[in-house]
Parts: sequence; structure tokens; C-alpha cells
Amino acid sequence: MPATENLREAERLMTICNACRYCEGLCAVFPAMELRRIFGQGDLVYLANLCHQCGACLPDCQYSPPHQFDVNVPAALAKLRNDSYERYIWPQALAGVFERNGLWVSLLCAASVAVFVAGFVAFADPAALWSAQAGDFYRLMPHGAMIGLFGAAALYAIAAFVFSLRAYWRDIHAGAPRAGLLALLRALHDSFTLRYLGGGGEGCMSENERPSGLRRVYHHFTFYGFLLCFAATSVATIYHYWYGFRAPYPLVSLPVLLGTLGGLALLIGPAGLFVLSQKRDPKLTDRARRGMDTAFIAMLFLTSLTGLLLLILRDSATMGMLLSVHLGVVMALFLSFPYGKFVHALYRFLALVQYAGERRGGTFVE
Ligand code: SF4
Ligand code: SF4
Repeated sequence: MPATENLREAERLMTICNACRYCEGLCAVFPAMELRRIFGQGDLVYLANLCHQCGACLPDCQYSPPHQFDVNVPAALAKLRNDSYERYIWPQALAGVFERNGLWVSLLCAASVAVFVAGFVAFADPAALWSAQAGDFYRLMPHGAMIGLFGAAALYAIAAFVFSLRAYWRDIHAGAPRAGLLALLRALHDSFTLRYLGGGGEGCMSENERPSGLRRVYHHFTFYGFLLCFAATSVATIYHYWYGFRAPYPLVSLPVLLGTLGGLALLIGPAGLFVLSQKRDPKLTDRARRGMDTAFIAMLFLTSLTGLLLLILRDSATMGMLLSVHLGVVMALFLSFPYGKFVHALYRFLALVQYAGERRGGTFVE
């Protein structure tokens, strides 16, 4: 017997859906469900993370409310998915951060910005802090200190992910066929194309149960914007250590161009997702945890906004304060990666690897 109310509800719905099978062409969840006759905790967590919450399986369901079966797969899987982030979190002592996640992330961001502003005021040359420095960030914070601080935060986030994803993978993968290289490539393809945000072809359910491709488009802006910003930082690191080129880089240089494109995409994507989330039918979502979604897209938006402002105003006297605010926001983003909505990308990716492995396992007919 599943241990929680959300597990029991997901098991109940998957049992009904497995008898009905009307939605089997919509996404990966239903074909994966059909491989099973009984649903253990690992199976349900896997199916929940395979769901992209497109909402397509609700409007046409003959058993959806007000039917007495009360079938609402998107909401049930969303709740279980959000539970899974809490269940596999490392360290377990922090499990509570997924409750009222929006508040925790906001407090973390405010504290981080305050620490950077105070640190700059205390340790930087006051003249450098309040005057134009020709965009030379390292007069305010030495390059080594920046790398050490953010490198430590990144290593901590990676360690937290390794521990939590290992426990998650063990649960969803128990007894499943081995996922090989081809499964990995297939999962990468499905992730990079956001295939299952297509709602079976018509798009995600949005306002008034109308399908729309916008949610997928804004996810693409966010995803590729994030990757471009990561690429900009990586190129800048290679410039610094390999070629000895020191920032600030010219406007027409690879790190700045990649960062500007990524930054613009990271304004458009999160802003669009926020607007869509306000219009989306609440019955498709886990209403109690909407703060987590909002906090994450707000953090991405703020990171991008402060980064672009810093680029535009880097030669002005405001550069010192802008740099401290930007670094504070980025640090909060790094630290909140394992404890916020960012985890959904990794959990979903591993669910797609599992799904691709099952398909290659030969037990699968698409
Ligand atoms: S969501 Fe409804 S229509 Fe779709 S498979 Fe389940 S019970 Fe059938
Ligand atoms: S909400 Fe979309 S992705 Fe999730 S189970 Fe329904 S059809 Fe599949």
C-alpha cells in the first residue's frame, strides 16, 4: 500500500487509466504506465517525473470531475512530483525548504545580496566602489576570490545533486532494463526538443482549455538562454586561464555576445512562463506549491536583468553596487539549485533516460 495520500491517489488514477488507455498517444506517461500492472512507489515517482504537465489528458477525460472517479492526472502527478523533490533531497534535514519554497528562496536571495553589498562596503576600496572603474570588476573583488566562492557553491550544488539523484534513480530504476548509451542519446534528444511539452501535438492546455504552443516556446527560451549564459561563463574562464585575457571583454567578443543573447532569452522565457502561469487553469497544477515555480523563474529573470544592467552600466559609477547585487543574486541561484524548481530538469531527464531504456528493452510498442 503506497505510503502517502499523493502516492495512493496516483496509484488509483494509474489503475483507472491502465484500464481505459484512451490517452496512450498523448505523451510518454501512458505507454510507460501500460508496461505495468501494479504500481510501486518507484513506478509512481517515475511516472510523475515523466509527466511534463501539458494538461492534455484532462479536458477529454470522460472520468474527470464532476465524474465520481474524479480523475485529474496532471494535478495528481504534479503533487507527487513535487513530493519526490522533498523525498530525495540531500541533506534530508533541508526537506522542509520545498514547503513554502518561494519564501525560502526570497529570503536566501535577500540575504545573499545583503552579504555581498556589506562585503563590498567592508572589503573593497571605497573609492572603487562608488566611482567608475572602466568595467574592471576585479578591482572590487579579485578574480581568485570570485572563482573560489562561486566554485565552492557550484561544487556544493553538484554534490547535493549527486546524492539526491542517486537515491531517486535507485527507486525509479529498480528492476528496469539497463539504460545504455542509445537510451541516453534518445533522452537528450527528447529533452533538447522538449518533446513532451507538445500535448500530443496541439500544445499545452492553457486558458479556457485551449491548447497552445507558447509554454513550450518559453521553456525553450529559458532552457537555451541558461545554456548560452553557461557557455559565456565557460568561454570567459578559458579566455582568462588559457589565453590570459582579462575581463572586461569588448562588446563584440564571444563571452559578451553569448551572455547577451542568453540574458535576453532568460528575460523572455521566464517572463513568458510567469504570464502563462497566471492564466493557466489552476486545476492542472499543484496549487499549494506554485510559489516554488514562481521563485525559480523570478531568480532566473533577476539574474539576467542584473547581468544585462551590469553590462550596460559597467563604465558608470553604479558598477560597484550593481556588481554586488548581481553576484548576490547569482550566489542565491547557485545555492537554491538543489532546493528549488531547477531540480525538475534533472529528475525529468533521468525519467526520460529510464523511458528510453524501457523502449529499447524490447517490451515496448509505441
Ligand atoms: S486520463 Fe481519463 S481518458 Fe485518459 S487514460 Fe486516464 S481515465 Fe482514460
Ligand atoms: S499532463 Fe500531459 S504529460 Fe502529463 S500525463 Fe497528462 S498528457 Fe501526459
